[in-house]
Amino acid sequence: MLQSDRVKEVTSSICCPVCQSVEFLDFNGRKNARCQRCLSVERSRLLWMVLQRLEIIKPGIRVLHFAPELPLLMRFHSLLGDFYHPCDLDPLRYKSRYCRIFPINMCDDLQKMPSELFDVIIHNHVLEHICCSVEDTLVELNRILKKGGNHFFTVPFRGNETIEDISPSLTDEERIKLFGQHDHVRIFGKEDFPALLKKVWNVSDVTVSVKSLFSETEIERAAIPLKSLEEIDANTIFHQVK
Ligand SMILES: [Zn+2]
Repeated sequence: MLQSDRVKEVTSSICCPVCQSVEFLDFNGRKNARCQRCLSVERSRLLWMVLQRLEIIKPGIRVLHFAPELPLLMRFHSLLGDFYHPCDLDPLRYKSRYCRIFPINMCDDLQKMPSELFDVIIHNHVLEHICCSVEDTLVELNRILKKGGNHFFTVPFRGNETIEDISPSLTDEERIKLFGQHDHVRIFGKEDFPALLKKVWNVSDVTVSVKSLFSETEIERAAIPLKSLEEIDANTIFHQVK
């Protein structure tokens, strides 16, 4: 083998940061998007890397995790035990042998919860599904987060302005056309959504600076597209310390 071939082989190898598998599957037209073993996709792997690098998940902290992806659920549960609260509008969808999923509707149930309850709140690609005000929901999530707590989430984007229609009259086909998936009620805009977050959180910086935490090699090795470091997209992690 030529030296240059060997170097290329090493630098192009990929490895899942969640489960250390080196086998990946293409998914939804995205090359190496899904880890073959733990089934994590790019946004789950990136969030896991960020949580580890920032040393966020420690025993004794209380974590609320909406639409809990199994690879992350398994690790959070083993680290946190009963302090981990995986939840969803439809708990059966995330049923596993690892832990109970709490039934929580983001639109109706957050208001009933006490303030400053959780150290960490996490949700990946959830806000595009909820049939109520995103701004009101973000305010409620902020209220139930402890002072000094961390809120992490991702959402899908298209264009600069958010478009939404929460009326039940749209057909599945119309939702796919408008929002990219049959059960989405909105798709977020790259300009107006960060502006909304800045207002709700009352901060000027609303995203994790992945570039300051990781080298490009580390990102590529986790099979995460480098373009996600350059622009707001479905892998951009929004983050607030309250
Ligand atoms: Zn994996």
